[in-house]
Amino acid sequence: MAAEDEGAVLAWMDQALDVAKEALEKGEVPVGCLVVYHGEVVGRGRNEVNETKNATRHAELVAIDQVLDWCKQQNRDYTEVFANSVMYVTVEPCIMCAAALRLMKIPRVVYGCRNERFGGCGSVLSISSDDMVDSGEPFECVSGYRAKEAVEMLKAFYRQENPNAPKSKVRKKNNRN
Ligand SMILES: [Zn+2]
Repeated sequence: MAAEDEGAVLAWMDQALDVAKEALEKGEVPVGCLVVYHGEVVGRGRNEVNETKNATRHAELVAIDQVLDWCKQQNRDYTEVFANSVMYVTVEPCIMCAAALRLMKIPRVVYGCRNERFGGCGSVLSISSDDMVDSGEPFECVSGYRAKEAVEMLKAFYRQENPNAPKSKVRKKNNRN
């Protein structure tokens, strides 16, 4: 898939940051994500972990579910849609999400800042590029777009966490993607 020009990438990342901001306002770790298919947003997601009490409801998986719904409504073949889509996400996908992206065969992911604790696209493991049998397709990763803004939003989230919480609890909370 042809690389987009930089201005277009930044514009999509700005939209992904808007989605991340919604998460921040709802008390979720601020990660926002878009799936763009031929210039159209067909899935958007933010962390819904606290709201759903489901630790797997990361932005990327929420967005993937939306793409599947969109495909159903539009009567489209989801394999073709994913194969021609780009995911824009404010933070490096975690190990779980990177594995899901492989399985759905999304060819290209653009992300903002790195995820030093759980990153699956090079920071902790390289799920995106490793040679693995029967686990979908490796995908191309481009990073660093709006990274500073993504980090600022994460910092804002951790600042608003309960300052009276014991240290161990704070650390535990920080472990969420
Ligand atoms: Zn994840």
